[in-house]
Amino acid sequence: MTSHHVTASTCCYCGVGCGVLIEHDGARILGVSGDPEHPANHGRLCSKGSTLHLTGDLDARALYPELRLGKSLARSRTDWHSALDHAATVFAETIRQHGPDSVAFYISGQLLTEDYYAFNKLARAVVGTHNIDSNSRLCMSSAVVGYKRSLGSDAPPCSYSDIEQSDCLLIAGSNMAYAHPVLFRRLEEAKARRPQMKIIVVDPRRTETCELADLHLALQPGSDVALFHGILHVLLQEGWIDRHFIDAHTEGFAALERHVRDYPPARVAELCQISRADLLTCARWIGQSPSFLSLWCMGLNQSSAGSAKNSALINLHLATGQIGKAGAGPFSLTGQPNAMGGRETGSLSNLLPGHRDAANPEHRAEVAAYWGIEQLPSTAGLPAIELFDALHAGRIKALWIACTNPAQSLPNQHRVHEALAACPFVVVQEAFRHTETCEHADLLLPAASWGEKEGTVTNSERRVSHVRPAVPAPGQARADWSITCDFARRLEKRLHPERPSLFDFRSAEALFEEYKSLTRGRDLDLSGLSYARLDEQGPQQWPFPPGADQGTTRLYTDGRFPHDSGRARFHADPYLAPQEPCTPDYPLILNSGRLRDQWHGMSRTSTASRLFGHVEAATLNLHPEDLQRRQLQDGDLITLSSRRGSLILPVQADDALRPGQAWLPMHWGKRFLKGLGSNALTLPAVDPLSRQPELKHASVEVSKA
Ligand code: SF4
Repeated sequence: MTSHHVTASTCCYCGVGCGVLIEHDGARILGVSGDPEHPANHGRLCSKGSTLHLTGDLDARALYPELRLGKSLARSRTDWHSALDHAATVFAETIRQHGPDSVAFYISGQLLTEDYYAFNKLARAVVGTHNIDSNSRLCMSSAVVGYKRSLGSDAPPCSYSDIEQSDCLLIAGSNMAYAHPVLFRRLEEAKARRPQMKIIVVDPRRTETCELADLHLALQPGSDVALFHGILHVLLQEGWIDRHFIDAHTEGFAALERHVRDYPPARVAELCQISRADLLTCARWIGQSPSFLSLWCMGLNQSSAGSAKNSALINLHLATGQIGKAGAGPFSLTGQPNAMGGRETGSLSNLLPGHRDAANPEHRAEVAAYWGIEQLPSTAGLPAIELFDALHAGRIKALWIACTNPAQSLPNQHRVHEALAACPFVVVQEAFRHTETCEHADLLLPAASWGEKEGTVTNSERRVSHVRPAVPAPGQARADWSITCDFARRLEKRLHPERPSLFDFRSAEALFEEYKSLTRGRDLDLSGLSYARLDEQGPQQWPFPPGADQGTTRLYTDGRFPHDSGRARFHADPYLAPQEPCTPDYPLILNSGRLRDQWHGMSRTSTASRLFGHVEAATLNLHPEDLQRRQLQDGDLITLSSRRGSLILPVQADDALRPGQAWLPMHWGKRFLKGLGSNALTLPAVDPLSRQPELKHASVEVSKA
């Protein structure tokens, strides 16, 4: 008779961070249900979370270390000791010959906080490089910049309960119904309870989220900054701003006031291709509602103007005093399950653990002192796009990729594949062996996955959950932190034989304990937390300093902001059009997004056949007029081309789009399509501050295949 156990953990997909109960027999995962005790989901799960137990296909897993000693050879099975020793020898030799910046690490918003911390310490303290970036660069880095420059800290100020308490919600660039389904259920229930709540959706496409909207602004792709400035123009004109809040708690408003004079309703309506009446309605609801909350996601962030879009939206909250109180505030929805943990541990090249900045000498000195090393490097690290440019140019000679699939997710895919193929040594630490990036691995290291590893994650509302393992990892797969620490110790012996190891960690908890001390006294102080406390009290929102008995629901309730002045800052950025305008050769604007039942590059969701029941295969969606103009029929096979590449796939008529726009699900890659997936077409233009690429806007053409 098999014994039956239940382990409380979290879902590994999106940033809602739902609690799950894993049913298992100690060896196999048998089922999953929503954790009624978890404050993020109160027992609910979406279609992806509730099928997690069906994604355990062992054929899809990397089970043993595999190594090849030449690019033309196939990888063959090896043991952990040989694999990591070989990697340490190659990295050490490369660093000795070409310097620490000749190697790099590219990691993931799906790692646990402890994994992230280990990688950060490895890169910055053992190798001596800031060349460590993560796929959060493609996800939330514009929100990071927006929060920091406007509010003074990378801290989403709200809680999920604010969604239920708000009187007016603006959802911008987010198909929340598909991307954050459980949170959307909470919003649907709130709207059913309080139908007077106003919901505004800003999205070029009429998405499933729009079904709940009282007003849908189908704006011209990329024109969000003009829209937000236009709203502020009307708020000023009508006197719907909070002068007392502006005077007491902010700076820079006079310049913004002058700036938005150039955004009158008639001009904004034309720039955004929306009606003047809708713009005025939107401004009136924002200006006259007792509480105003905004939610946003990739539509704002994945843009060459992502930082400006974030700050322009936050401007609206500061001008109306709609922050730091129930049902109000700017609230980014994190794409990945632990992109927040990555930001906290410093997993972007420009950051350091504890919300510190790599460019700040005092911050570098604090971290170096804590780690007991002389100094951290002063040379800036490379953010993702620049990192892969350096790889392409041969300046990066050894690359370690963990838990992410850049050979599908980065823009301008042909170039990314060229760069990976040419890199002398590519290590891929990964749970699934079929990802496009695994093809390029000289060394493949099998990683433990969901249900098999321990650590913590932070969700969109700053809530830290204890992630618990239920079953052992299959084959020889190991927890990411353990692989990283083992490699770090071997590299230390080669590079720093004289100093004691910085990696004497024997558990994920030991990493958490060290990391949390680096947050002490910082805005995100979570040094009052421990695994035992999380087990006792359940998931908690930071800051949670020592002595606290519970987490912090809402930030900035006292009107003080963590800029030196104590004030929040307005920013008067101009509206700039997306980088690649349409031309007669490429007359359509390509946008992309998520489907309900797939996740990212499908490394996990493609292993559960049930998840193809909703949408079986990728199609390109086009307005019926655009089909007609090209003499295409619904279902025809088409070639979709941009200046960088092409795909062949069926076309689908879709009047949720405006004429001139095309939409593609982001999930299908080379394994399923003729071509390299949606990012064969996208361009590597980046936001000047966040360095986040413009994945939501490329000019394309469609022709019959
Ligand atoms: Fe998982 Fe997100 Fe679905 Fe919750 S909403 S079950 S975290 S995918």
